[in-house]
This record gives sequence, structure tokens and C-alpha cells, in this order.
Amino acid sequence: MSASARAKTNGVDKPTPPKIAFEEHFRPYQQKVKYPSPEVEREIAPKLSLDEIPKRLELMDQNGIEMQILSHTANGAQEISDLDRVKSFNDDAMAVVQKYPDRFRALAALPLWDPELANKEMDRCLAHTEFVGVISNGFQNKGDEQHWYDTPEYLTFWKHLEDSGAPIYLHPRMKLPDKFTADYPELAASCMMFHTGVLEQVLRLLVCGIFDHYSGLKMILGHMGEFLPWWIWRFDHRYEMSGWGDYSTSAQKARRESFGFSKESTLNQVMHKNIWITTSGMFSDPNLKFSIDVLGADRLLFATDYPYDDMTKAADWFDNLTIDDQDKIKIARGNAFSLIPSLCVE
Ligand SMILES: [Zn+2]
Repeated sequence: MSASARAKTNGVDKPTPPKIAFEEHFRPYQQKVKYPSPEVEREIAPKLSLDEIPKRLELMDQNGIEMQILSHTANGAQEISDLDRVKSFNDDAMAVVQKYPDRFRALAALPLWDPELANKEMDRCLAHTEFVGVISNGFQNKGDEQHWYDTPEYLTFWKHLEDSGAPIYLHPRMKLPDKFTADYPELAASCMMFHTGVLEQVLRLLVCGIFDHYSGLKMILGHMGEFLPWWIWRFDHRYEMSGWGDYSTSAQKARRESFGFSKESTLNQVMHKNIWITTSGMFSDPNLKFSIDVLGADRLLFATDYPYDDMTKAADWFDNLTIDDQDKIKIARGNAFSLIPSLCVE
């Protein structure tokens, strides 16, 4: 691990741990990006460029970030059906990590319009130490259709991912155009609806039993868990009270027959067993403390969401948090080592 990461000091002049940041984006050379607003395009697009990596490294040094886990920016692989381009996204990420092996690792983009192709690209990337996991930017669209990953055709993908031992980062993506996005484009973006897509995906996977059948799955969610920590109690309470576990509706019976299994775990159990959450773009003391209270500090990972959010703001907030020192070390890097042992090279 790089020795050049500089620990900052907090209000009582106490060194803070170097940080590994998990949701840090770049734009591969062949990726076209539709930005949600002209302001985002003007301010963010240049910082996503691979040509700006040296400036990014300066910022990382200034903010005590020893390593970024790079991922191609949304929507990327999830809105195209071009395998060569997806491979080029991963080749670009690999080149950066190979140039700066102490400072970067990457998450592999996957051609999830075809689960078999996704498995092959997962294998191609994870065979290299430069990649420490995979990423899906929300649902996959094929043309104008929206595909979640809770259908029988994706079971081979979940099995393959579980066998790999690598985590998947479920990142949000923009909603497909509808009346809501036409009426309120600002609510369809990253202040709200952008995130509900991840919430929907996770709950669909939970309810169909994916986390029970592939119980070793490892999943990372950004933005302090995409609403889920706040909703665990209510979800499990109403699921049980409403009798949904009886599988009495025709939709439930059809799903169980097509999969051969069904939901057993509660959301609370899955959040403590299969899911890690990051601080990306959510620099809020109450939200962090609530998440530690509900999930335990072992489930949290540091992230900034650069360049969609401010790396310095993220680091200043984290370094000055008044939480238990051991919890801070875990969130900064210790949990990253537990989740991805290959990161721990000290
Ligand atoms: Zn992000």
C-alpha cells in the first residue's frame, strides 16, 4: 500500500487512518455519458477523464486517500449491448491500475444483457489482481426494456459471482424516460429517484430468495445503503404481518416454481450477512451513526463518489467524525481488507 497517503489531523490533532475509497468513477475512452444537467456536464465531465489521473492523485494525497477502487461511470455497460466496448472499459481501468498499482484497483464492467457473456467477462477481469470486484450500474436495459437481475436467466450469473468470492457494487443509474422524469427531471436524478432503482433491485433479489440460495453473495451499496438501513424494521415487520411468507399468491407460486427456491431470510439478516454500505455522497453524521447503530461498524466502507461529489469535503467530514477510533479505522480501511483480502498487502 502506498506510503504517500498523508494522514490528516482532526480537531484534537490526532492522526486519522489512511482511507480506501470504494465508489470513485472515471469515464473510459469509448464511453458516452449523458449528464443530467449542463452544470454537471461542465463541472464533472473533465474530472472523469483518464487524462486527469495525475490531478486525481494529487487530491488523493491531500486528503489522505491511499487507494481508490475505480469504476466506470453510470450508465455505461448497463445501457449498451456492445461487448467490445464493455471490454474496452475494463482494459482502460486495467491500464490505470497497472500504471499506479499502489493507488488504484478497479471494479469490472459487465455485459449483463447476456448473463453468460457477463460470466466470461467477470472471469477475464478477476483473473487479474487489478480487479477486486464487479459493478452493475442499476438495471440493464435491452433497447427500451428494463431488466432486473431476479429472473431465472440470471441464476447462472449469481452462482458464478458467489463462486468467485468477489463483491458486486450495485450503483444507481438514471431512470428510463417516463412521465415522472419528464415532469420532474431534477427528482429523477441523484437527489432522489436515481437511488430508488437500487432499492428496488435489492428488494427484488431478497424476495425471490437469491440471497438464500446463493448465501455467500457479497454486495456493496453506496450512499449509506440506498435508503435500506432506515427501512429494515418496517420492511420485515410488514412482510411478516401481511403473511407474504406464505407464498399464496399466483405470482409467488410461479416465481418459486421457476427458481426452485424462495425467500427465507429477513432483510435484517441479509443486511448483516451479504451487504456492505459505503459513505459515498452522504457526508452526514446522523446518517453514519444511525447506520453503525443498525448494522454495526463492520458493514461500512469509506467512499467519496468522486467526481460527482467533493473528495475534500468527504475526507474532511470523515476525518473529523467523533466516533469510536476503532470503528473509524474499520470504515477507513479495515473492513476493506476483510471484504477483499487481496487489498491487504502490508
Ligand atoms: Zn457514484
